[in-house]
Amino acid sequence: MILQMKTGEANLTIDDGCQILLDGEGRITGYYEEALRIRRAYDDRWLRLPRPERGGRSGNQPEVVRELPEGEITGVLARIRGRLEAALAPGSALEIAASSLPNSSRSDDVPRDEQEEGIRLLRQSLSTTREAYRTDGQRFRSLVGRIPVLPPDRYRSLYLVVAPGCRYNRCLFCELYRDRPFATFPPLEVQRRARELVSFFGRALPTRTSVFLGDASGLAVPQEDLESILRSLHEVLPPRVLRDGIHTFVDVFVTRSRHERELRRLSELGLRRLYIGLESASPEVLSFYRKPHSLEILAAEVRKARAAGIATALMILAGGAPREMQESHLEETLRFLRSLDLEAEDRIFLSPLVIPEATGFREEVERRGLSLLDAEEIVDEVDRLTAGLAGITAKVSRYQLKGFLYR
Ligand code: SF4
Repeated sequence: MILQMKTGEANLTIDDGCQILLDGEGRITGYYEEALRIRRAYDDRWLRLPRPERGGRSGNQPEVVRELPEGEITGVLARIRGRLEAALAPGSALEIAASSLPNSSRSDDVPRDEQEEGIRLLRQSLSTTREAYRTDGQRFRSLVGRIPVLPPDRYRSLYLVVAPGCRYNRCLFCELYRDRPFATFPPLEVQRRARELVSFFGRALPTRTSVFLGDASGLAVPQEDLESILRSLHEVLPPRVLRDGIHTFVDVFVTRSRHERELRRLSELGLRRLYIGLESASPEVLSFYRKPHSLEILAAEVRKARAAGIATALMILAGGAPREMQESHLEETLRFLRSLDLEAEDRIFLSPLVIPEATGFREEVERRGLSLLDAEEIVDEVDRLTAGLAGITAKVSRYQLKGFLYR
């Protein structure tokens, strides 16, 4: 069995293929054993994931991501404990691979302090009780809350709440922030949380190489406060955490439009990319979604951000438009995205619909005599959008909302 050390984390791989993923504080972040694929979020939710289908089409899997109940978590922890005890037993075949030389360096030539760190990590993980995980999860939730979503290229950001919730909170397809009122935090509160997050992550902090300002719109914070927050991050956080810049979602239809020179100040302070939920460029689809975008304003905001040195990422909802509106959604969205002349630093994310339970989405479809795409048609739509964006300079990726965990 091999303990592969990494920066701020480690993976223990056992000869039967079982894998235990640990962060630098010995917290379990994943456990894979044959058909069992478990991930733990920092808020102490444990999810069981479907086994990836070889050669299957992405998005075509049965929806079997589910949160583990308490009894199952205890059972999984007992299995992991048995594995860790075996790894630490005298005479075990444990080898430690150095973080700097992942493929070749085994125990003999691993620096002594890294070997000791590996053993410390396994011992710390073994001694972490279920109660300790619960307390740890509560601490995280008091600092950050539950993170419903992050763009896929920001999964490893340090998530720092500057404005909890969504000021609009009325899009028909979205229930991500309906559990919390909208607010903006003053700079001192954000600084306090940033310091506490540094302490929470401890030796796992080097796994974070960018900052994401949550929740649905970091730019809702007034300019002066936001500048003060960004400045303080350079004092509170180690340079590695800021290495890939600062990022946030923005709702361009309710947040005050900033002047280019204000955006430039934010860019100078590290703001690297804005994530915008476009969803569709078809006015009838946006109206159905109750998302009051003006495409002219959105295009102007993208161009202004670019002029200020800030990239943009546009999120497109795939399969959310009812069948009767699908062709206009595809045609107008592709045309609009192409008209933006996005650049290499920009991104387009294609996010398949996850039907919300509490917003009346299905009821609205029925009330209007419309019909929803089925799972296969949604995958087809993702493929059509991908094909339609071929050759565009911005990177195009898929974005699975279901099963997201912050870990
Ligand atoms: S899609 Fe964005 S703007 Fe609409 S409710 Fe959700 S978070 Fe708010």
